[in-house]
Amino acid sequence: MRRWHFWIALLCLLPVLAAVPQPEQVRTRVADGFDQPVGKPEAEGYYTSRGFLSYHPGEDWNGLKGGNSDLGAPVFAIGHGYVTFARDARMGWGNVVLIRHIFMENGQLQTVDSMYAHLDKILVREGQQITRGQQVGTIGTNRGMYVAHLHFEIRKNLNIGINRSAFKRDLTNYYRPGQFITARRTLPGGGRSAMIAINTYSIGNIAAPPTDESKLRSNARAEAKPSPLKPAAERKSTFRVNRFEDL
Ligand SMILES: [Zn+2]
Repeated sequence: MRRWHFWIALLCLLPVLAAVPQPEQVRTRVADGFDQPVGKPEAEGYYTSRGFLSYHPGEDWNGLKGGNSDLGAPVFAIGHGYVTFARDARMGWGNVVLIRHIFMENGQLQTVDSMYAHLDKILVREGQQITRGQQVGTIGTNRGMYVAHLHFEIRKNLNIGINRSAFKRDLTNYYRPGQFITARRTLPGGGRSAMIAINTYSIGNIAAPPTDESKLRSNARAEAKPSPLKPAAERKSTFRVNRFEDL
């Protein structure tokens, strides 16, 4: 190939290369074990209203008092990790936080993503280092689409991100959250640091979160307004069927 052919080919490729997220590595703390994401550490005061199903590869956590009694209740990181996503993904998801965890199992380092969805408020930033049990947000309704609950997932496949429809909802891509946590309450090798890959999934055109200052202002406005939600008793069923994915 002549030299100028090479440079023209490279110039044509540049926009393509720029659009593909470049994998990177960051240092984070190895998890020393995992806790439940609500009522920490054992989910005291909560129950799973819906478990891991073929169409629902996660668990829905609700307060024992029912209805929206858990609206605004704290949601906690299940273990040490690194925030890879903290945005409003809209549609059926609403506010979502994704945390990447690295942990030691059978003498090897393994990586998983924990997902916290339909949050009323997000209290962490992308790129933030997170400690086990740290509050990451509050339980929400995704703008009144559901009775307040936490949708929670643990992913083996680090390419899922918020593009769940592109992946099989089975145990090749996911863990059953309850089983995963129960089997890993205490883990060896926790506390030291290790490298994890980031930018392993596409976030499409989901808008970046507002700056802290504007977020604070919009949170203040939201709190000043009365809740548009009807009392739980007026609702016909726990989950409204929506036109998006069943989450
Ligand atoms: Zn769910």
